[in-house]
This record gives sequence, C-alpha cells and structure tokens, in this order.
Amino acid sequence: MREEKIYDVIIVGGGPAGLTAAIYTGRSKLSTLVIEKEGMGSLYMAHQIDNYPGFPEGISGPELNKLMKKHAMRFGAEFKDAVLFGFDPYEEIKTVKTDKGNFKCKNIIVATGTGKNFGKKLKGEKEFLGMGVSYCATCDGAFTKNRTVSLVGQGEELAQEALFLTKFSKKIQVFVTSQEFNCSEQSLEALKNSDKVEIITGAKLLEIRGSDFVEELSLEIDNEIKTYPTDFVFLYLGTKNNGEMYGEFANLDAQGNIVTGTDLKLNVDGMYAAGDIRSGVLKQVGTAVGDGTIAALEVIKRNLRK
Ligand SMILES: Cc1cc2nc3c(=O)[nH]c(=O)nc-3n(C[C@H](O)[C@H](O)[C@H](O)COP(=O)(O)OP(=O)(O)OC[C@H]3O[C@@H](n4cnc5c(N)ncnc54)[C@H](O)[C@@H]3O)c2cc1C
Repeated sequence: MREEKIYDVIIVGGGPAGLTAAIYTGRSKLSTLVIEKEGMGSLYMAHQIDNYPGFPEGISGPELNKLMKKHAMRFGAEFKDAVLFGFDPYEEIKTVKTDKGNFKCKNIIVATGTGKNFGKKLKGEKEFLGMGVSYCATCDGAFTKNRTVSLVGQGEELAQEALFLTKFSKKIQVFVTSQEFNCSEQSLEALKNSDKVEIITGAKLLEIRGSDFVEELSLEIDNEIKTYPTDFVFLYLGTKNNGEMYGEFANLDAQGNIVTGTDLKLNVDGMYAAGDIRSGVLKQVGTAVGDGTIAALEVIKRNLRK
C-alpha cells in the first residue's frame, strides 16, 4: 500500500497570502501543499490592481493570481482544487479535511480570505447550531451523556466520531448518505459490534426540527419521509462555513475573522492565519503578501526547532 504523504505545511487558500507563504516554504525546501477552490477569492474578483508594486501599468486580479501561483510552483508547491471541510490539528501530524479527501501535514496556514461559505445550509442547521447541531463529536461528545445522538454524512471521519460517541451517548443513529458506508473495515466492525449503534444507509437529511433545542430529524430513506427523534445531530456534509471551522481553534471577532497576535498563531500549536481572514487587517494585496511572509517564516522557524 502506498504510504500517505505528510506535508511539512498545508496552506489553505490560493490568494496572495497563501501563495506568498507557499513561495517562502517551498523555497525553504519544506514540502508544501496549497488547497484552494480554484477561481475563487477576492483577487479573482479584482478587475484591475493599480497599487501593488512592480506593475507600473497595473494588472488584473486573476492575472496577478496566476503569476503568484506560477511563482509558488517554481519552488515545488503542489496544488489541490478542493473545498475545505475542517481540521484535526491537535496531534503533531495534523489532518486537513476536504471534499476531495483528507491530507496530512505538520503545519497549517489558513489563508482563505473573506470567502465565507461554499456549502448550502440545511433547513434548521443554522437555527440549532450550538443547540444540538454540531460539526465535531470529539469537541462536543461529552455533552451527549445518556442522550440520543445522530450523525449524518459519510466516510471514515464519521465512523471514528460515532465510535468516540459510544463512550458517552445512550443511542447513536448513523445516517449514511449513500448505500455503502465508505469507512475502514475495522471501524465498521466496531460500530456493528456496539449495541448502542444503529446504521441506516441511503439517507438524505431534509430538516432538523425542535423548539429550544434539537428534537427530531426528517429524512428521506428509500423514497419515504421518516422522522427520527434525537437530542443532538453531528453533521459531516460539508455545510460548515469557514468561520464555524476556525472557531474551534481560534478566537474570532464579531465578523468571524481570526484574531491573532503578531506571530499570526492560532490557539493550536503549528497553526497560523494570514491575509484577509485575520481580524483588524487592512484588506489589500500588499498586506496579504506581508502576512503570508510572516506566517511562512513562523513555520520555517518551527520546523528548524523540531
Ligand atoms: C473587487 C475587488 C477589488 C479589489 N481591488 C484591490 C486593489 O486594487 N488593490 C489591493 O491591494 N487590493 C484589492 N482588493 C483586495 C484584495 O484582493 C484582497 O485583500 C486580497 O486578495 C486578500 O488576499 P487573501 O490571500 O487573504 O485572500 P483571497 O485573495 O480572497 O484568497 C482566498 C483563497 O482562499 C480560497 N478559499 C476560501 N475558502 C475556501 C475553502 N472553504 N476551501 C478551499 N479554499 C478556500 C479561495 O479559493 C482563494 O484561493 C480588491 C478586492 C476586491 C473583491
């Protein structure tokens, strides 16, 4: 079996902040993966940039983005067109989760700009966020002691999270969004062996309902609409927006921007933020480039200490 690559750094975001960071880390011989939703981001929307040094005639935003990307590639940065779903950053080897699979690394730079949401919310998801709706069983599992919980989605992450909940919850309903549960055989076996767990495949979540707190889910299963009572629902559907993902690992301001000190560190070791996503920064190409430089140099310093 091919061994999974562990990157020295994964940079999420392929705008000026992320690409500058990739130039620095790549040039320092750190293996670098940039995860970006191609063609998105503020720079792509900028018709003409007239105030970034080196382009006396001005340059279009997409053209500047393209040149920065080419520059990062020259120093070996790899690219993946994918949408960020979340992180598992607490161990030395961290995981970045996307719609194209999970990627491993030692450091993470978050440079996703002001882009807020690629995922569409489900009915009830926003209303009950924090009131029974969660995206992270590892974070909120302890609140589910002796309660009925549901998980909705697909894959190994969901399987692992469901197994984690067996330590706390009374009953665990696993709603798999396709007919097959694509997780490891060991996890599937362990779930099937737990008398707390029920696995329901081919399920489409339609609505989360309740009053003050989540009370039930409406799902379409085998062309039938069914209602399942539940106290909590953990979603692995890619509907989480950027701010919701970062809040677990960083302090956010009222607009959902990440608050950092001058070293651009988040609350988890080896995790940094750069560019427009940071709180209090003047949102310009020049400042994003400066941020990318600082975050990359912090990663390079951390790497030298290891
Ligand atoms: C219309 C317009 C005109 C502008 N004009 C100027 C100007 O003249 N001069 C100037 O200096 N600045 C200008 N700006 C501001 C400038 O474009 C931004 O400050 C700068 O691009 C910020 O860089 P960034 O790397 O932080 O974010 P962005 O450029 O926004 O890049 C963010 C990156 O993150 C990726 N991303 C976001 N969310 C996800 C996700 N969930 N999963 C995967 N990838 C994700 C995006 O695909 C993108 O690659 C303008 C902005 C706009 C919108």
